[in-house]
Order: sequence, then structure tokens, then C-alpha cells
Amino acid sequence: MVTGATANGPATAGEAGTSGGLGAANGQGAAYAVAAQTPDPELPMLTIADLGILRDVETTAEGVVVTVTPTYSGCPAMREIGADVRNRLLRAGFERVTVTMQLAPPWSSDWITADGRRKLAEAGIAPPSPAPVRRVEGPVPVKLSTVPSDIARCPRCGSLSTRETARFSGTACKSLHRCEACGEPFEAVKAL
Ligand SMILES: [Zn+2]
Repeated sequence: MVTGATANGPATAGEAGTSGGLGAANGQGAAYAVAAQTPDPELPMLTIADLGILRDVETTAEGVVVTVTPTYSGCPAMREIGADVRNRLLRAGFERVTVTMQLAPPWSSDWITADGRRKLAEAGIAPPSPAPVRRVEGPVPVKLSTVPSDIARCPRCGSLSTRETARFSGTACKSLHRCEACGEPFEAVKAL
């Protein structure tokens, strides 16, 4: 089985998806490219590939099987994402589409790609800090920063002198912060 996405793999998927011709000649690549364009309803500046929740797109004799991992537990957006992925693939000409949820390993905000983090920052939303280490299997987490996971860096001025003003901001995946340096309120994607 060739997978379109792994925990560390989707960073280049966007480029593959926009290159056109290659994907069209390869059913799996084309299906991945279509699925990868699906936006996240709660963070619409990100695709599900940017978020790292698009785990696998497999073209089989039974049709296309898309595997996604939910972000935050009980996230109501997952049903919407599943329907959107399916509709996009059907519109692109794939006839049978199945979307399955894969719960393990659980999604981590560390799976958000570099592209996704850049898009968040451009939208004025602080990307998540490195998630707290919570499991030993799988790739060893690389400690990129000594910043505690509950401190959000101001996306406008870069200051770490910020404080959380609300645990939930609109959706469960974001919290609300205020920068003490420049005074701006901003949202941050929670580290998980
Ligand atoms: Zn600031």
C-alpha cells in the first residue's frame, strides 16, 4: 500500500496536488490531491492536509477510501469534513468514495504542517506550541522550543509576553490571548 500521508509526510502534498498532469495519470495521486484541498470548517485557512488529519487516500477496486483522524475529541466538524471530502471526490469523477475515521494514534497539533503554521500566522492566529509529550511509541518528538505549551507567541509582534484571556474562542480548538507587548488580542490554536 502506498500512502498519501503519514504523520510527517503531508508537507509536500500541496505541491503534488497542484502539479496537475502527474496526478491525473495516477488515480491515487489524483484522489489524494482532490481530498487534500478540503478546507477545515473551523480553521478555513487550512486544508485537512495542512492540519495533518488526512491520513491516507487509497484507490482500490472498491473505490476510493479516505482515512482521516479527528482533531479535538468530539469535534463536530468531522462529519462536515467527511461529507465535503466525499462530495469533492464524487465531483472530480471518482464513483465510489468511503471516508473512514482513524482514532489511533490520536491527532496531535504537532501534525500541522509548516505550510499550515505559516497560513495560521498569516491569518493572525498563533500556531500551536509543541505539544506536551504524551506517548513513547512512534517517532521521537523533537523538542523545537523550550516555550511552555500553554504560552502563545503573539502573531503580530512575536512577543511571548502574552496571557490567555479565554480558554475557548469560538471553537474548542482555539483559545483567546492578549499580547502585553503590543496590546493585541489574538487567537491561538491549542497545543494537543
Ligand atoms: Zn504583540
